[in-house]
Amino acid sequence: MRGALALTARAQAMSFWSMSLQSYADTSLSDQQPDLMSAALANIRARIDAAARRAGRDPQTVTLVAVSKTHGPDAVAAARRAGQSVFGENKVQEALTKFLPLRDEADPPTLHLIGGLQTNKAREAVRVADVIESLDRPRLADALALAAEKEKRLPRLLVQVNVGDEPQKSGIPTREADSFIEMCRHRFGDALCGVMGIPPADVDPDPYFLWLAAAAARHGLPVISMGMSGDFEQAIANGATHVRIGTAIFGARPRPSAAEHSSPSVPDGGYL
Ligand SMILES: *Cc1c(COP(=O)(O)O)cnc(C)c1O
Repeated sequence: MRGALALTARAQAMSFWSMSLQSYADTSLSDQQPDLMSAALANIRARIDAAARRAGRDPQTVTLVAVSKTHGPDAVAAARRAGQSVFGENKVQEALTKFLPLRDEADPPTLHLIGGLQTNKAREAVRVADVIESLDRPRLADALALAAEKEKRLPRLLVQVNVGDEPQKSGIPTREADSFIEMCRHRFGDALCGVMGIPPADVDPDPYFLWLAAAAARHGLPVISMGMSGDFEQAIANGATHVRIGTAIFGARPRPSAAEHSSPSVPDGGYL
């Protein structure tokens, strides 16, 4: 039953795109399709609001992070025109190119970095991000602390937990999560404000969402970033304060290249 529910949610996430324009989902969004962008965002916001209400929650307590990775600056601009102000990127270089130029605008967008972060990119990450969601090992905590000092800028930080303890995924292992969160809280104070996680694919995500919500509660952290295009309604039912949604807003991303497939899952060589 629960597996069926997860599949239904995933199917719903995709149905908007198949209904609106079949071939569109294979392309990146451009300025020619501002109406589709508005419609996609309105659709997702309505589903977020409904999921929050079903859970007896104020919809205002759920922030939509629009994951614009692989889509160009035109897609970001179209989403901003449609009222979207919070974005997510998973690569530092791409984030710098797309979002640093917007920093000086009167009402700049808020940028979340959501991808595995190499320690040698910490300084640029600190420069461009408002929130870094992928703090997952002591060495990265060291690098971010040093970078924040040099840049005189400390983004808000989330501890990413490898909720399924999957070897191929980044995130601190669940058994080390509590002590790591405590260490980061000491080190970064209130800038360390929550947890993030990605449940294993193709299983009911509920137990993993529950684990993350319980961890946030144990540590008194206000932010719980969980839920993507296929499972954000379930995440909201379990207490998500931030949902990270790409495909259901911007359409499909190009398939990763062979080179990306073979890149190591722990980018800078481990947790030392
Ligand atoms: C790409 C990505 C998302 C968005 O996934 P969709 O399925 O396209 O909504 C969310 N979180 C992380 C960490 C991602 O890398």
